[in-house]
Amino acid sequence: MSSSDTIFALSSGHGVSGICVIRVSGSQAGDLIRLFCGKMLVPRRASVSLLTEPHSGRVLDQAVVIWWPAPHSFTGEDVAEFQLHGSRAVVEAMLSCLGSFDGLRPADPGEFTRRAFVNQRIDLVEAEGLADLLAARSVAQHTQAMRQMLGEASSVYENWRSRLLRILAMAEAAIDFDEEGVGGAADAFRIRESVGLRDEIEAALSDADRARRIRDGVRVVLAGFPNVGKSSLLNALARRDAAIVSPLAGTTRDTIEVSLVLDGHEVIVTDTAGLRGTSDDIETIGVARALAAASAADILIWVASPDVAKSEDVWPDLNPDILVRNKSDLGVTELGLNRNNSIPVVGLSAILGNCGELIETILSIIATKYQHTEHAVVTRERHVTALRDSIRLINESLRPDSAPEFVAEDLRNAAAALGRITGVIGVEDVLGAIFSEFCIGK
Ligand code: GDP
Repeated sequence: MSSSDTIFALSSGHGVSGICVIRVSGSQAGDLIRLFCGKMLVPRRASVSLLTEPHSGRVLDQAVVIWWPAPHSFTGEDVAEFQLHGSRAVVEAMLSCLGSFDGLRPADPGEFTRRAFVNQRIDLVEAEGLADLLAARSVAQHTQAMRQMLGEASSVYENWRSRLLRILAMAEAAIDFDEEGVGGAADAFRIRESVGLRDEIEAALSDADRARRIRDGVRVVLAGFPNVGKSSLLNALARRDAAIVSPLAGTTRDTIEVSLVLDGHEVIVTDTAGLRGTSDDIETIGVARALAAASAADILIWVASPDVAKSEDVWPDLNPDILVRNKSDLGVTELGLNRNNSIPVVGLSAILGNCGELIETILSIIATKYQHTEHAVVTRERHVTALRDSIRLINESLRPDSAPEFVAEDLRNAAAALGRITGVIGVEDVLGAIFSEFCIGK
């Protein structure tokens, strides 16, 4: 398998559709257009063309074909794009015909995007933005991904890196010209600029957690004693919105998650095992997992109900964001004291499915906690790690007892850490992980 092969793939979804797109990238793309269409096409113009199977002369389809000569294509290579009728027979015939040519092979997942990166059509953050866009389910995820894909985050990272390179130049000047007496002024500049830049990176990092919540979904956890109606509430929430996108992977017997899109935000609701002191081993594990989920929640909902005694007594150390009084249909309104009267209390009946007020309450907490977070820059653990590295190295460079040579070395490494985010600095080791996220044909 070689990066000089010409690759092809069905880039649109599988199944019967009005139109589907087969994309070819590599040095043979132009020859294929000539072979299938019988002539060369005007670059970057949609042309309606009869596609003829070159070996047999059989007409495969009447299609729209676009010829994107290098370097002005998505991959930066010669690209042929065939917009065929989305029939299984047409797609099968076209793909098997393409596969019969020497030097042509089906693309690996993400290979088109990887080639775009290698040919410097996009950087790594933009590639990640594209992966996020393809996976986006909510409005907030869509907005965040578009900003990444269009290079806004990259330009922030590149701005930080170029400032760091200027600071490095000052540090090197301090070494080279020490004897001429400019070292002191250069040092003052270096320290002032380094502190300013470090603070800016730290501020962006402090938004990272919230930004990743947009990308991964806000975690809402239902906790409470057994039989208060947590599972029923989960079902009611899922049904009400009719938007269970998928049962999530990693679901265990005792914690169940569903993903919902509520008013443009992806929310992952987790139902946990009922909390109670127990000597049963399995249940003890369930309780431990429930507590772990509750403490990792972005929004913790404590569920109580009138037929379960003391169910409003929140488990020690848990700080719920909402108290739900379930089973309002039983007609009991007084449930005893809500000890934490600073949190919103919502009465509902999971069985009747009247969760409107609860959803409004969840949304208002999201609006407060995650406002404008789709504009944040740092959305991935990979970025967080590199930024933490660069902050650590900048701090090292600021140590008063650090020799000038070490200062320069620390700054050089800090700039390299930033460069790894967009991929201008050696990133071979992370490429596999990043591009394997994509589907075939992207
Ligand atoms: P969990 O153990 O907290 O997950 O509770 P479940 O959802 O399994 O419910 C426990 C029992 O309470 C079941 O018999 C449910 O049918 C019942 N239940 C749940 N929600 C309601 C409700 O809103 N009203 C009434 N009357 N019963 C409910």
